[in-house]
Amino acid sequence: MGAIRKVSIEEGCISCSLCQDYCAEVFQVEDGEDCVVREDAPKHFDAKAEAIRDAARDCPVEVIAVEEAN
Ligand code: SF4
Repeated sequence: MGAIRKVSIEEGCISCSLCQDYCAEVFQVEDGEDCVVREDAPKHFDAKAEAIRDAARDCPVEVIAVEEAN
C-alpha cells in the first residue's frame, strides 16, 4: 500500500471520538464538535498509517477520507 497523502473529514461526523482513540496525533474531537484533522497531522501519516486507515474503516458514519499516494 502507498503512503497517505491527505486526511480529511467530510460532513456528517457524530463526534463519537473513535478516531481520536485510534490516533490522537491526527484526529481531534472536542466534545460535541465535529472532528478536525490536526494541523501537524501530516508528519504522523507514515508512522500512524495503520491507525489512520483503521479509523477510516471503523468510523460509524464513514466520513474520514484518506487519500493515498499512488
Ligand atoms: S470516528 Fe467518524 S464520527 Fe467518530 S469522531 Fe471520528 S470522524 Fe467523527
